[in-house]
Amino acid sequence: MQTPLVYLKGVGPDRARLLKEELNLQTFQDLLHFFPNRYIDRSRFYAIRELPQNNSEIQIKGKITSVSFITQQRGKRMVAQFEDESGTMELVWFRGHQWIRDLIKINESYVVFGRLNWFKGKASIPHPEFELEATFQQSTKMLFYPIYSSTEKLVNKGLSQKVIQKIMVNLLETKTTPFSETLPQALRDQYKLISKDYALRQIHFPESQQLLSRAQMRLKFEEFFYMQMQLVLKNLQRKQKIKGHVFEIIGTNFHHFFEKHLPFELTEAQKRVIKEIRMDMGTGRQMNRLLQGDVGSGKTIVALLVMLIAIDNGFQACLVAPTEILAQQHFQSLSEQLHALQIPVALLTGNTTKKERVVLHQGLVDGSIPILIGTHAVLEDAVQFKNLGLAVIDEQHRFGVAQRAKLWQKNELPPHVLVMTATPIPRTLAMSVYGDLDLSVIDELPPGRKKVKTLHRTDSNRLQVFAFVKDQIALGRQVYVVYPLIQESSQLDYKDLMDGYESLSRSFPMPEYQISIVHGQMKSEDKAYEMQRFIEGKTQIMVATTVIEVGVNIPNASVMIIESAERFGLSQLHQLRGRVGRGADQSYCILMTGQKQSQEAKIRMETMVRSNDGFEIAEVDLKLRGPGNLMGTQQSGILQFKIADLIQDQPLLKAAREKAFQILNEDPSLKHPDHQCIKKTLAALKFDSNIWNFIS
Ligand code: ADP
Ligand code: MG
Repeated sequence: MQTPLVYLKGVGPDRARLLKEELNLQTFQDLLHFFPNRYIDRSRFYAIRELPQNNSEIQIKGKITSVSFITQQRGKRMVAQFEDESGTMELVWFRGHQWIRDLIKINESYVVFGRLNWFKGKASIPHPEFELEATFQQSTKMLFYPIYSSTEKLVNKGLSQKVIQKIMVNLLETKTTPFSETLPQALRDQYKLISKDYALRQIHFPESQQLLSRAQMRLKFEEFFYMQMQLVLKNLQRKQKIKGHVFEIIGTNFHHFFEKHLPFELTEAQKRVIKEIRMDMGTGRQMNRLLQGDVGSGKTIVALLVMLIAIDNGFQACLVAPTEILAQQHFQSLSEQLHALQIPVALLTGNTTKKERVVLHQGLVDGSIPILIGTHAVLEDAVQFKNLGLAVIDEQHRFGVAQRAKLWQKNELPPHVLVMTATPIPRTLAMSVYGDLDLSVIDELPPGRKKVKTLHRTDSNRLQVFAFVKDQIALGRQVYVVYPLIQESSQLDYKDLMDGYESLSRSFPMPEYQISIVHGQMKSEDKAYEMQRFIEGKTQIMVATTVIEVGVNIPNASVMIIESAERFGLSQLHQLRGRVGRGADQSYCILMTGQKQSQEAKIRMETMVRSNDGFEIAEVDLKLRGPGNLMGTQQSGILQFKIADLIQDQPLLKAAREKAFQILNEDPSLKHPDHQCIKKTLAALKFDSNIWNFIS
């Protein structure tokens, strides 16, 4: 199977080079796993009267009754009248007329195949393939023709679909013994999967629709199965190898806070995930857990409580946030909440002065600072801890993997890691992306939340929107107006923002109205100042770029206006909307767009108006964008499948994952004779050494 393609019958040096350059196919193995994109179904004959009203490729049986030549300005064409019992249509040629004319026998029965063309309600097939029915019956025909993805260059250099099909036939004929099996018999029996050999032959040249489906299922299962095997193996290895701190006790701080200072009753979901986390931190293995919860589901309090567990066990904890504003906000609210417990909390960001740092570093090393809150600055090498036991990372989608890895180097034993994300991704996808992470989900919002009313408006409604905003402000509410800032450096985006700010200032004049503005090009103390004014209710409107996207919690803000909403992705829109609806009042999210939008933008707006459910929105997002675009998976290639489809084949993924777990639980080192094929296949699979999700 590792033989270079140049040695395959029908290939040779030129074609081998082309196949390598254009399709990255080098060996027999590569070609064998180059699966067709689609198939042309020649098992079916259409009647002319019931032809599909599109440009599909179809096959008909009938007679040619006459042939004529038509000369037009643009050239000569040959038209044959073709009929079956149900109707008539035309076959058309624009080139090579005479020799084709000579081939045609009038009133004999033909099988004709080609792509339909419709003009003024009349069907024709240009340049059809045609063959006398008598000879058609005698020749052994494929019923499904594989169509492979190709490139212009390949076609120009003579590597047409026909040629590739021929090469594929040669390949399959070369291999006279069966292709080796990669799935154990018992597994195949359980899921009724056909053999690898049969599947490979049927996937290229299926004998029926049903066999094609079975071949696809077998190969998809295999693809998922081996991906999951690798992830589960890593998960198990990590759990065996990487020791973690044992948090045995639930101590005084936790109890004290829980009983005396908890500001509200926890939801059932919050209680459940705290329990999951607590158990995980008590096992003696390092915790690597993803905490998913929709915006506003109350992840912060969970973080606080589990940090208290770390402290009760004599360790330090840190909370890392992606933005300065968010770090400050966490610092403020945690300091207040922990004040009663007299637990010192420190803040470290890019703006912490050198002088402050010296003190802070000392406090971390001698352990007098038990809780550190900060931004990326926490990860710098200079920041050392006495005994960091737990690192909580908030809103993980802004965080790079390499940065998370840095946390490991802070102490001898790595801290437990809890990654909190408000970007819900469908569970099945989470399983495959984060196959080696453990997952906790807060699937419930705190009680009494009113659903945010979401409206889609265009620029022509702006006056109404402003009038509405004035009403809301009169009721004492506050308002966000958010502008897209797709690239930090984009001057155009800043111009939009500043124009918008000016126009708002005219419509909402001082002194009656006060407007804050926050964007990425401001100094951070200015940002903090403006933010503070808004938090304190001194300003009613906050004009901002997406710096406020993540995590900011201002319950009195009840209106979110998103300008140029069509430029935001779904998950971002959902995040932004999550900034309102945190108080008791009815909240609103208004999506402003131009009159015209792309089809995809329309779907995004409709989805937002229809749904408040982060998981549902994530599903739509996944369908619109494809999994490759989710959270930095682009570089990883991990979600690129040859044949399986993460969205459509979710049940198969689930089955494959369960099976992978079961097999590795029963036979962790794959010693059983039945599992030798798995062992061999795993060894042959090139392990991606920087498989990114392993790190955390
Ligand atoms: P997120 O999960 O988006 O980070 P937060 O932790 O910021 O959400 O919580 C959102 C708001 O809900 C905060 O004002 C918080 O105080 C409040 N909250 C959290 N849990 C509860 C609860 N169980 N009952 C009532 N309010 C809660
Ligand atoms: Mg949050």
